[in-house]
Amino acid sequence: MKDRPVLIAGGGIGGLATALTLHQIGVPCIVFEAAREMRPLGVGINMQPNAVRELYDLGIDAVELDRVGLPAREWALVGLNGNDIYAEPRGLTAGYKWPQYAVHRGQFHMLLYEKVVERIGPQAVRLGSRVAGYRNHPDGGVSVRIEHADGSVSEAEGALLIGADGIHSAVRAQMHPAQPPIHWGGAIMWRGTTWGRPIRTGSSFVGLGTHRQRMVFYPISQPNPETGLSMINWIAEVTVDNTEGWKQSDWFRQVPTSEFAHHFKDWIWDWLDVPALIAQADSVFENPMIDRDPVATWRDGAVLLIGDAAHAMYPTGSNGGSQAIVDARILGAAMMEHGVTQAALAAFDEKLCGPISQLILRNRGAGPFGLLNLVDERCGGTFDNIDDVIPPQERSEFMAGYKAAAGLAIEKLNMAPPTIPQGATVRSAALA
Ligand SMILES: Cc1cc2nc3c(=O)[nH]c(=O)nc-3n(C[C@H](O)[C@H](O)[C@H](O)COP(=O)(O)OP(=O)(O)OC[C@H]3O[C@@H](n4cnc5c(N)ncnc54)[C@H](O)[C@@H]3O)c2cc1C
Repeated sequence: MKDRPVLIAGGGIGGLATALTLHQIGVPCIVFEAAREMRPLGVGINMQPNAVRELYDLGIDAVELDRVGLPAREWALVGLNGNDIYAEPRGLTAGYKWPQYAVHRGQFHMLLYEKVVERIGPQAVRLGSRVAGYRNHPDGGVSVRIEHADGSVSEAEGALLIGADGIHSAVRAQMHPAQPPIHWGGAIMWRGTTWGRPIRTGSSFVGLGTHRQRMVFYPISQPNPETGLSMINWIAEVTVDNTEGWKQSDWFRQVPTSEFAHHFKDWIWDWLDVPALIAQADSVFENPMIDRDPVATWRDGAVLLIGDAAHAMYPTGSNGGSQAIVDARILGAAMMEHGVTQAALAAFDEKLCGPISQLILRNRGAGPFGLLNLVDERCGGTFDNIDDVIPPQERSEFMAGYKAAAGLAIEKLNMAPPTIPQGATVRSAALA
């Protein structure tokens, strides 16, 4: 059992961060990834300071992150009349010891993949290998059934299985066969990128509109020194009646802008032209805003769920990718304490399953965008002075509550010791 590797289902952000962490602490691992090839898929995603701290501790530095994104400086909510509802600094400007990064999800994912191949070797990630099921052994290990892209099927044995296979997780489906179907609350998102001039601080996340219809946009590349243009990531969102469920067969599909641009045809100000932003996009993807109902545990014997497989949540808090990275690190820390054992998985489950499940429900209630709901309820979304609608203290308290729940309280994070001390390995911890 001692020599068996940890098996990881899914080579997304969570799976690759787990592989890098396990390698760092001296634990052999293999990643099984269903996709036949790694491609830079997706658009914008935010890496919160708690995740950037872990990336730095993994030896992925600011120079490398600057190649796939840029430090975020501000988070702002703006009403339909263009007036500010709320604005706060982010990352270093807010007083964190680590920046927040707005990155291109696909390029960031490829960066993690390159690191895994460089540090562990190309055999560390088995592409075209879909994990189809698992079996816990009486001796504490686990077998995994793998369906290969060429149609063959094989079995692998490991000390533990980490299910990092995303929102449609096969590992979770086996662990919780009675789980309800994916939950959709009625919001539809259309996501795209367009080259444009960044506004406000030059790296501001802006949420504009009401909670039933809004635009979110932020730059995810450094401005081109010649043109001044950055790649602007945008999400156009409307909420519709969901009583009949999601009608499309796909959860993620490329669509022409004509399918939704009419919702935003009048959204033109002297500082922003939403119809132009949409019309000039390279390509646009439609996906419903979905998550999964929390489950009572993420562990079954030698098997543990992490990342979206454990806690897929609405992206309103911009913390899905960050939490997947933090999960990987907390799992590594649990192994430092308990060894490569089921006890480590139990400690992880005990620590995170309850609080993160609460965060899923909090994000369902609009997460930090909840302020837009309040503005809508109190004045229909139009106001001259936001202080007359929501006093400054109420706004600050609302945001502080969210940040504490998401592990983003500034002082607490700044004071926290490293999740995994530099140079520490599972072996050195066992000898200590
Ligand atoms: C293609 C893609 C594009 C995305 N684009 C965005 C975006 O633009 N913005 C955003 O905010 N979030 C996006 N996300 C979601 C975001 O990456 C996740 O919410 C977050 O990073 C959590 O990461 P994760 O590793 O838990 O899950 P994911 O990043 O979803 O990774 C799961 C991985 O597991 C693989 N997999 C699935 N089933 C199996 C199986 N049975 N066996 C083996 N491998 C399997 C998948 O191919 C995938 O690589 C995207 C996810 C994917 C997969």
